[in-house]
Amino acid sequence: MQQITLLGSTGSIGRSTLDVIARNSNRFQVFALTAHNNVSLLAQQCLEFMPKFAVLSDPQKAAELRDTLAGKTCETEVLCGMAAFEEVASDSQVDTVVAAIVGSVGLKPTMAAVKSGKKVLLANKESLVMAGKAFMDAVDHHKATLLPLDSEHNAIFQCLPYKGFQDSLGAAKPDALKDSGIAKILLTGSGGPFRETPIADLIAVTPDQACAHPNWSMGRKISVDSATMMNKGLEFIEARWLFDVSPDDIEVVIHPQSVIHSMAQYIDGSVLAQMGNPDMRTPIAHALAWPERVESGVAHLDFFEVARLDFSRPDFERFPCLRLAIDASRESSTIAAVMNAANEVAVEAFLDEKIRYTDIATIVESVMNRCDSPTTTDLEAIVSIDQQARIIAQEEIRSKQR
Ligand code: NDP
Repeated sequence: MQQITLLGSTGSIGRSTLDVIARNSNRFQVFALTAHNNVSLLAQQCLEFMPKFAVLSDPQKAAELRDTLAGKTCETEVLCGMAAFEEVASDSQVDTVVAAIVGSVGLKPTMAAVKSGKKVLLANKESLVMAGKAFMDAVDHHKATLLPLDSEHNAIFQCLPYKGFQDSLGAAKPDALKDSGIAKILLTGSGGPFRETPIADLIAVTPDQACAHPNWSMGRKISVDSATMMNKGLEFIEARWLFDVSPDDIEVVIHPQSVIHSMAQYIDGSVLAQMGNPDMRTPIAHALAWPERVESGVAHLDFFEVARLDFSRPDFERFPCLRLAIDASRESSTIAAVMNAANEVAVEAFLDEKIRYTDIATIVESVMNRCDSPTTTDLEAIVSIDQQARIIAQEEIRSKQR
């Protein structure tokens, strides 16, 4: 029985993970669940999965959860605060931690799991964007097993040769990809809901339009990132660290059907692709059961229904956030952390209808130009740079509102 801590259980990835766990209850047991606001869903999850611990960010929400569970047959102990997130991620009884909190707040609990040598299933790409080098050094040093949940990185992982990678991504030798004959990583992306919208019309896009992804059902923040293709940019940086490759060895390919989830191109001309229906339960089931396979509940791919696969190059005029992220991936400074923080603040302001869709990219770029981004692997320093970038992003938002 694998004992699992699920950080962010009430989110889109969290719910999909619990669906896979419920289908394979002979293999996986929930040790702890965590959430931020959604007390009622967390309570339902506690009653169904009976975790030892449930954690919420603040004491008031934790008290609400205790009240909701009182008198029910549920022995879950309710905790609160960042220290408790880190405790349930590093508890000695835990085998596997699913890192599915959204945003930079996921960095510390994910790092706590890495530092205690867990099997870490990484959805929180922000951890690698903010602190890629420190994160991968910690995976290596603490002998954690790192498996990607992001569908693209999980696809690439599945296309890699077994030798050299399958023990742990962090422990792969420098140049392991090149030594295995891999010429390039091809990172696919659908292009989101505005792939063909006239660029002049993007200024009037609403949050609901931006969140209506054509293929994937996801949380609102990542849905907006998919529309701007900042998500692909974050994934570009994530791939650079996970697979220890230079940005020149990664290419973004627009593939609107989202059937190919990414590819590895080999020097002999072979291209290995991982395909499937666009449903996160596939990479989640793959990583949970790895190196075995389990049922995920995802329907088998019907090639006759798919019928065709299309590909094109990304248009950086339409997707300026993608260009900003690729540029950031070439720097050894903390510019990617600055970009990530500015983007989180700008996307939240867009979802709250305080700024326009097209303001997201201009705000992110202004913050990247204005904020200091020294080179450091110190987590506290990175968190403080993140905070600084947020303050500047708020100033930029206020200036747009005037
Ligand atoms: P959601 O917004 O759906 O869920 C986020 C989860 O994090 C919720 O459980 C939420 O709790 C919790 N959370 C939010 N804010 C805080 C906070 N301040 N402190 C602690 N917990 C918090 O996000 P997704 O599931 O879509 O995404 C999660 C991560 O996975 C992101 O990093 C995303 O980039 C990545 N990812 C997502 C994919 C997807 O298909 N959704 C695909 C690949 C990667 P509450 O519900 O209570 O607010």
